[in-house]
Amino acid sequence: MINFHNMLIFKCKNCGGDIPALPNENTVICGSCHTTIPSPTSSEQTLFKLGKLMLSEGDFEKADGFFNELLAANADFAPAYIGKLCAELGLHYETQLDVSPVDFSNTENFRKALSCADEQYRRVLEGYMTHELAEVAQTPETKRVGFFKRLWLRLFN
Ligand SMILES: [Zn+2]
Repeated sequence: MINFHNMLIFKCKNCGGDIPALPNENTVICGSCHTTIPSPTSSEQTLFKLGKLMLSEGDFEKADGFFNELLAANADFAPAYIGKLCAELGLHYETQLDVSPVDFSNTENFRKALSCADEQYRRVLEGYMTHELAEVAQTPETKRVGFFKRLWLRLFN
């Protein structure tokens, strides 16, 4: 069903060597140190990586599917909600939220991400939110001005 496994390389927890993720295997043996470790293939991190991969390639529907699958296994995985938000907004990377002209701070996915983020990630998320949108009035015109101002600040400072 998923054909992207060959593209995913994990680090051996024992020696740091590269281990390709194999589908349908519960364990994998590191080629460098021959330690048997649990396969990360079905893990939440794998689904998250696949989701991010699909975002970066612009396949937002598939990205959303991976994030949904991940959230079905762990509903508190905050970055997956942000992944869904990116898919919704058509963003390739989470950091693009920082210059998004759309006020996403009240969307369901952003709210959910905030509610289950740990302290560190919450600060990151609040950083996306505080870029002037809080002060900008809710008309399309001022939103546009705010966006170009942020873009200007980002490019020339
Ligand atoms: Zn190893």
